[in-house]
Amino acid sequence: MPGLVQAGFVRLNSASAILPATPVEVGKPQMFFDPLYLLVLIPTLAITGWAAWRVRSTYSKWAKVDSGITLNAFDFARQLLDRQGLGHVKIEPTPGQLTDHYDPRGKILRVSTQVADARALETSGVTTSAPRLSVAAAAVIAHEVGHAAQDHAGEPAMKLRQLIVPAAQFGSGIAPWLVIAGVWFSITGLAIVGLIGFAAAVLFTFATLPVEIGASGKALAYVNASGLTGERHGGARDVLKAAAWTYVAGALTALLTFLYYAWLVFGRRD
Ligand SMILES: [Zn+2]
Repeated sequence: MPGLVQAGFVRLNSASAILPATPVEVGKPQMFFDPLYLLVLIPTLAITGWAAWRVRSTYSKWAKVDSGITLNAFDFARQLLDRQGLGHVKIEPTPGQLTDHYDPRGKILRVSTQVADARALETSGVTTSAPRLSVAAAAVIAHEVGHAAQDHAGEPAMKLRQLIVPAAQFGSGIAPWLVIAGVWFSITGLAIVGLIGFAAAVLFTFATLPVEIGASGKALAYVNASGLTGERHGGARDVLKAAAWTYVAGALTALLTFLYYAWLVFGRRD
């Protein structure tokens, strides 16, 4: 049904977040009940639920492990940015859990309350007076610095993604309603316009993947240069991999929804 798309489209236009915004939006009304829709809904809930669980559990595991970096989250972000020649990028705190993101319009890297908070480390037994940073926090910050570097270098993958944003916003907002209305009132042209719009939204979710994977590749090099090796490096990789899966889940479920809409328009001839 309309709305079964990543609510993250809107937020993602201005920012490259560590995670897509909360997956499924099921609040919009259904005009009719279609049992086939369960074939879309159930896998979508399963895939996005699994990805969300995985990223939270991986993060909390590595949030308890000391990275060995004696800087707080903000100072570490500043150090990485400066090392990449990104002295112009500002750093700000932002509320929430894993809401960390880089804003390419304002050139601002926002660090979440969760990532800035080193208390998970304290409870794991290690206590010193020096600032501390967990492996998980270091990985997330490095990932956002990776986005800042992509933006500064004008990387084609990031440019392409930004280019699709307006169409993707249309596609994830009004397009599903056009499909439903077109099918409901048998106005095939309207349904096809909606379908094309939704295809743009799907394209956006796939165009996001190389940007995310690229930022994580850079992040792993940054944390390596900051002294994360062996098990700690592996931990950072696990956190970034789990975050990447949430984007893969978003792309797959958007594609699944698109196939369902396409079937509504073209398949259901009776
Ligand atoms: Zn990202």
